[in-house]
Amino acid sequence: MTEDTPSLYCVNHPNIETHLRCNNCGKPICPKCAVATPTGYRCKDCVQNQQKLFETAQWFDYLTSIITAVVLSFLGSLILPRMGFFVLILAPIAGTIIAEICRIFIRKRRSKRLYQSITIATALGSFPPILANLLGFTLSIGQANFSSLVFLIVEVAYTFLVTSTTYYRLTGLNLKL
Ligand SMILES: [Zn+2]
Ligand SMILES: [Zn+2]
Repeated sequence: MTEDTPSLYCVNHPNIETHLRCNNCGKPICPKCAVATPTGYRCKDCVQNQQKLFETAQWFDYLTSIITAVVLSFLGSLILPRMGFFVLILAPIAGTIIAEICRIFIRKRRSKRLYQSITIATALGSFPPILANLLGFTLSIGQANFSSLVFLIVEVAYTFLVTSTTYYRLTGLNLKL
């Protein structure tokens, strides 16, 4: 700032003198109206527009990708835990497939909320066998039922791995864009 900078007045508060300008649109803004961003001070309008750019997912993206995640995660939960501890390798592959298929549907559009929804859908889809097993396990308490306990652990491992891989694949790729 030089001494002879002409006085500016905030666009939102015409009585407040300021030296700040939004570094995107150049509007003079007072410290109250300025939002600190990684690239400098910006006015609220510009920050809002920026956020809209990052939320470009459409309603049908939610529909297609949530159905995809629930169905695939459910199918995986029926098949993969039967492979025993191979689930440690197979569940991350399943999560990757779910995330990649969802990305084909949603293309370049993106949204943090959409990624979170897909992740929750993946977790929900993997749940029915766990619930069924839990129910069976509760009913059979009293009898030694070690194998169904092991199966339960494998199923929980599947849920955890498929869900975290799906989330990581979706958001991790997003960071690179
Ligand atoms: Zn601005
Ligand atoms: Zn202001």
